[in-house]
Amino acid sequence: MRFKTLDDADLSGKRALVRVDLNVPMEDGRVTDDTRLRAARPTVDKLRAGGAKVILLAHFDRPKGKVVPSMSLKPVVEPLAKVLGAPVAFAEDCVGPKAREAVAALKSGGVLLLENVRFHAGEEANERQFADALASNGDLYVNDAFSAAHRAHASTEALARRLPAYAGEQMRLELDALDRALGHPERPVMGIVGGSKVSTKLDLLKHLVTKLDKLAIGGGMANTFLYAQGHDVGASYCEKDLAETAREIIRIAGQNNCKLFLPLDVVVAEKMAPGAPARVRDPGSIDDDERILDAGPETVERLCRAMNNSKTLIWNGPLGVFEMPPFDKGTLTAARHAAELARSGKLVAVAGGGDTVAALNAAGVSADFTFVSTAGGAFLEWMEGKALPGVAALAQ
Ligand code: ADP
Ligand code: MG
Repeated sequence: MRFKTLDDADLSGKRALVRVDLNVPMEDGRVTDDTRLRAARPTVDKLRAGGAKVILLAHFDRPKGKVVPSMSLKPVVEPLAKVLGAPVAFAEDCVGPKAREAVAALKSGGVLLLENVRFHAGEEANERQFADALASNGDLYVNDAFSAAHRAHASTEALARRLPAYAGEQMRLELDALDRALGHPERPVMGIVGGSKVSTKLDLLKHLVTKLDKLAIGGGMANTFLYAQGHDVGASYCEKDLAETAREIIRIAGQNNCKLFLPLDVVVAEKMAPGAPARVRDPGSIDDDERILDAGPETVERLCRAMNNSKTLIWNGPLGVFEMPPFDKGTLTAARHAAELARSGKLVAVAGGGDTVAALNAAGVSADFTFVSTAGGAFLEWMEGKALPGVAALAQ
């Protein structure tokens, strides 16, 4: 897919409607993590430098089409202004007279944030009239919210079809990284998929085994695969009804020459609790009261070796219950190894997923990865090979 970027745009004096992700974590009306605000900066800077009037569109939380005062974007204004190093005006509605007046008052290089687009039911319904109303305040549209691109909403989809549409800097960065990891990767390309459940990642696994040269399966979902291969997994988390599906995934992998890595050894404990006494077992000798809570040392070592022999790595899902030491060891060891290879230029390492990002942060290695996506659902849908409506609408 090809996109217009801000390098292609004539910005001077133009009203740029910019869809950003400002859905930041908040406690008692205070922003507790400004990662997403910082991600918006490169696009805003570029627009301001080009003399555009910057009009930010965003959602916050899930007001479901009604005005919910506790879900206002107002508390984001000051932290955003601080991150941008520029004043940010605010309008109490994203359409109608309040929006119109605020836009009319905006000067070239100025920044305006419009109130939560999800206060209108037309947003999530991708409604024509609502998109028209949004479009009336802009001369061009920029989408910089990859994390919202899996939804066909008015501010992510319909609006892009009404104005000249551009990919913002963060959007471009994200799409480039994903393309390097899975679209057109340098081979061999390896995947690691972990996490708790097979059931939430079926589409992901089925797609990846047709794309990758190697795939390591870890976390709770590996238990289902071990069970499907005839192992007794004791008291481990296991989706026994998905055994046939697991066997099908193993078959599809074989047909597509994707080498699967299932655990060679596992770390077990009787209780899922921090510091619970842990033992290493091979998958064939797990007692009835034992739970698999992490990948074993041999498994992790083989995984690291497989990374050494790969050019590209794409990772979603921790290898164990990383929130509870000592069951974080497999995930941390593999993460540090990937980071070291990425830092020395030997591996393109891309990762995403809510818990995966938390695990990489806990390991202190996020900055060394080639790219870490904080896009959550959009990242997963993209990894599943699905077309993202917000991205498709930008395609030329
Ligand atoms: P992400 O958010 O990165 O997509 P998931 O939500 O799929 O990842 O999975 C993360 C969760 O999986 C973590 O809470 C972790 O504790 C859990 N998990 C990993 N391994 C196991 C295991 N062996 N048994 C139970 N839960 C596990
Ligand atoms: Mg998760």
